Amino acid sequence: MDIAGNYKNLLKELPEGVKMVAVTKTRGPSAIMKLYDTGHRLMGENRVQELTAKKDRLPGDIQWHMIGHLQSNKVRYIAPFISFIHSVDSVKLIKVINKEAIKNSRIIDCLLQVHIATEESKFGFSVKEASEFLNNFTPGSYPGVRIRGLMGMATFTDNSEIVRSEFRILSGLFKEIRESGLPASNDFDELSMGMSGDYRIAVEEGSTIVRIGSLIFGERE
Ligand SMILES: *Cc1c(COP(=O)(O)O)cnc(C)c1O
Repeated sequence: MDIAGNYKNLLKELPEGVKMVAVTKTRGPSAIMKLYDTGHRLMGENRVQELTAKKDRLPGDIQWHMIGHLQSNKVRYIAPFISFIHSVDSVKLIKVINKEAIKNSRIIDCLLQVHIATEESKFGFSVKEASEFLNNFTPGSYPGVRIRGLMGMATFTDNSEIVRSEFRILSGLFKEIRESGLPASNDFDELSMGMSGDYRIAVEEGSTIVRIGSLIFGERE
């Protein structure tokens, strides 16, 4: 697997301003270091235990992004160092992140995860819930949290029209909040959507952060 080569090909394809989080779940330190040696620093993990274990074994200047479901009782393990949480899926979780961030004298960048796929999922705000939360959001109530935007995953399907229409729903809400002039629009500048199978469509629909695993590291076992 030519990890560095795969990564460079992807970079060439992404428009300027679109960031890439390399999803390192299930990958060992030597694979991750091949990517690190290209200069890439944004890495994503979906499990707290795996994330903290890797963080301790890898260089300290990696910016770790949490991209998977986060249980409230595990926030404290990542609050001291996490650079971005993409998977904020409840108000309860925001409150806990806020509390743990303050304990660590930090402000943690967060994205609200919105459920846009047709597949059943326990996780994520509905579009309506996210919209209501953001319309009533006052940054002063959560001094440890910066709501930077939205994250979503499209249905796992070959039908690109379904994928596109789901991404369009998310980018519609993103634009609406961004242009609203509401307090929530202050720091609202990131839209995390697109994985190995659908990142091209996501970028066409306005993604600012793609989360890519298999296209860099190969298929997972
Ligand atoms: C695993 C994962 C990805 C990356 O998936 P690939 O298909 O390997 O690119 C992106 N986002 C989330 C939330 C994931 O869990």
